[in-house]
Amino acid sequence: MGSRLFGARSAQELFADEAWLYPEFLPAELPHRESELKELALALQPAAKGRRADNVFCFGPTGTGKTASVRFVVRELSEFAKNVKSLYLNGFEHGTRHAALSAIANFFSVPVPRRGVGTDEVLNGLRTRLDRVSFNAVLVLDEADQWARDPAEQKLFYDLSRAQELAGMKLAVVLISNEPDLLLRLEDRMRSSLGQSRLEFAAYSPAALKDILRARATHAFRPGAVDADAINVAAAVGARNGGDCRLAIQALLKAGRLAEKENASSVSADHVSRAVHAVVPRPIEKAAPFLSPDEKTVLALVGASELSAGELYQKYAASVEAPLSSRSFRDILTSLTKNSLVRVRLASKGRRGRTRLVRKI
Ligand code: ADP
Ligand code: MG
Repeated sequence: MGSRLFGARSAQELFADEAWLYPEFLPAELPHRESELKELALALQPAAKGRRADNVFCFGPTGTGKTASVRFVVRELSEFAKNVKSLYLNGFEHGTRHAALSAIANFFSVPVPRRGVGTDEVLNGLRTRLDRVSFNAVLVLDEADQWARDPAEQKLFYDLSRAQELAGMKLAVVLISNEPDLLLRLEDRMRSSLGQSRLEFAAYSPAALKDILRARATHAFRPGAVDADAINVAAAVGARNGGDCRLAIQALLKAGRLAEKENASSVSADHVSRAVHAVVPRPIEKAAPFLSPDEKTVLALVGASELSAGELYQKYAASVEAPLSSRSFRDILTSLTKNSLVRVRLASKGRRGRTRLVRKI
């Protein structure tokens, strides 16, 4: 029996294969990233011959193809060279030193019991294993700023550099971050090692975005199902938001669904314009319903100019009846950072160590 809700074919099917517009979809070509792909390949290619690959630091604004390009090259490298294996970790999922080390240990087949193992134990297990690794490993740490946000998690970078010494030439690290200055937070030695090769991803121009969209749309939609103007408007959305390709692609996907829903014969510029509000983030409005009262209070106290975390805590503590501990306050800052509501930057206070400076995004 067909379903009345799901079974009815829409009169106009505009999509040929909408998966081509999914954010995680990795197309077989990445137009306008030829030189970045080449540089990445050049840095990593020694691994294919069992030699030492360069560590690479990729940086640039959101939606400029950093993740896609690295995944692309690493995938091709491990298909081409059977002695290369890769591990991809995302800071939003594995954003603590412990989580990352556990995943890395697992990747190197070091047995890690699920519970109750201290970070040092994981590290020790890893150390005894690393000099016997039989393949060349490429470790990708995406959204790497997540591990740089405080000194305890930052230790991961030191562990990695130590791991590289132990593994000899068998381990290359690719860091990806939106933040060009990420490595400045690390010690000189670490900075030069992890930043051996620096690769900047610049914002896409409107013309580049159009090309990319056109290529994706050709596969995603049936012939003639997208107006040229619709591509132009979607490209303009990406261009207005810092050359962000992800937004442009999402706008086109939403517009396509809207057009199908309305039984239109093609996706028009108007569909894209109406779909835009669904994809362009308005962080505060979006996250507000999920914020706790304390999170809302802290957020309201954060301004456009930087405030130290200590000052912010004092202001917060003064403005509520029963303030949370400074430890829970740190969690609040972390959660606001994750939701892209505040930006936290580590700054040196000279001899007195470091302080975290907070401001609105
Ligand atoms: P970043 O990691 O820099 O934030 P992503 O690599 O996630 O950006 O790219 C965002 C989206 O745009 C992804 O869906 C990706 O497939 C797509 N994309 C980015 N650059 C290109 C390109 N040159 N060609 C085709 N698609 C691209
Ligand atoms: Mg990314």
